[in-house]
Amino acid sequence: MARYEIATIAGDGIGPEVTRAAIRVLTEACGREALEFAMRPGGAAHYTRSGAVLPDDTFAACRDMHAILHGAAGLPEVTYPDGTEVGNDLHLRLRFWLDLYANVRPIQLLPGVRSPLAGVEPGGIDYVIVRENTEGLYASRGAGVLLRGEFASDTLVVTRKGTERVARFAFDLARKRTGAPRDGRRRVTVCDKANILRSYAFFRAVCTEVAADYPDVAIDYAYADAITVHLLKRPDFYDVIVAENMFGDVISDLGAATVGGMGIAPSGEIGDGHGLFQGAHGSAPDIAGQGVASPLATILSGALMLRWLGERHADPALGEAAARVEAAVDAVLAGGAAVPYDQGGSAGCETVTEAVCRALR
Ligand code: ATP
Ligand code: MG
Repeated sequence: MARYEIATIAGDGIGPEVTRAAIRVLTEACGREALEFAMRPGGAAHYTRSGAVLPDDTFAACRDMHAILHGAAGLPEVTYPDGTEVGNDLHLRLRFWLDLYANVRPIQLLPGVRSPLAGVEPGGIDYVIVRENTEGLYASRGAGVLLRGEFASDTLVVTRKGTERVARFAFDLARKRTGAPRDGRRRVTVCDKANILRSYAFFRAVCTEVAADYPDVAIDYAYADAITVHLLKRPDFYDVIVAENMFGDVISDLGAATVGGMGIAPSGEIGDGHGLFQGAHGSAPDIAGQGVASPLATILSGALMLRWLGERHADPALGEAAARVEAAVDAVLAGGAAVPYDQGGSAGCETVTEAVCRALR
């Protein structure tokens, strides 16, 4: 295995504990030589101390190193004068400055985890949401209009370039997915509101054009309102879903809730040159410092990072390490001896982490 430098921002709230946990597990899986976790400051608490949420040196490390591992950033009491949370800025800056256009959210029901949906078995939910991460309805960030307390407006932006690249990402991902596809063929579902807004009709049209380059992958379409119902009633139908930014945001949280919640859902934000990996949850200040947070979302995000690095650097050992981490998490959850609090157990962050490391050995 070659050596990889990981720019690591622990951040706020439970960020430091779950980051420490992921570092332990990834080091156990890959060996001390393969990964160097370069800790860099950033986040809301750091802003309070220094005035910078994302210091220049931290950004440079994120830009120049092989990958980014992030705990979580943000504290509700640390806000800008307009009331918005400072912590969000760390993430948004990395997202835009490094052009992390594909937000990848695997939604998978793991063994031992109880879904709030009735009658769903492990393996019965296994799809990936690819959320467009740089435009859509969130593109007007900061440029929205509020007039005299009477009128507010934001802009929905859909570009050909932005849609093409995220659609290609989704189709490429569909090709790479393993496990038997439901109808013998991989599928990408385009989530939009093409029936209501011209921008979404354009999003759909561009995705359909891209699909022509992937005759082996089926394409279908779902309106954003309808898909919320389908994700609850027939989650087994889905393979890869590609969605505009805001719809992707909403259905990602919905999907996570069906497989055990934010504490177990991983995420990766990926561009052509960079990848940032963190759990789907935020900094959860209500449980910070108590040792009760689940490290699993961050550990599984670390596995996504290994797989991404392995593909990027043609280093199959990393992909194998990712599979071992995922298998170890499955074994811990299925074994029932170290189940985190948010999954109905009584194992704290340390205990769960130790159990995953033991399963790896
Ligand atoms: P953000 O604004 O960053 O999205 P949020 O306010 O939506 O954050 P989260 O931090 O994602 O909230 O978490 C919501 C709640 O879920 C937390 O308050 C916490 O109780 C629970 N939670 C989140 N992450 C975990 C975890 N890893 N383990 C256990 N519980 C968690
Ligand atoms: Mg949230």
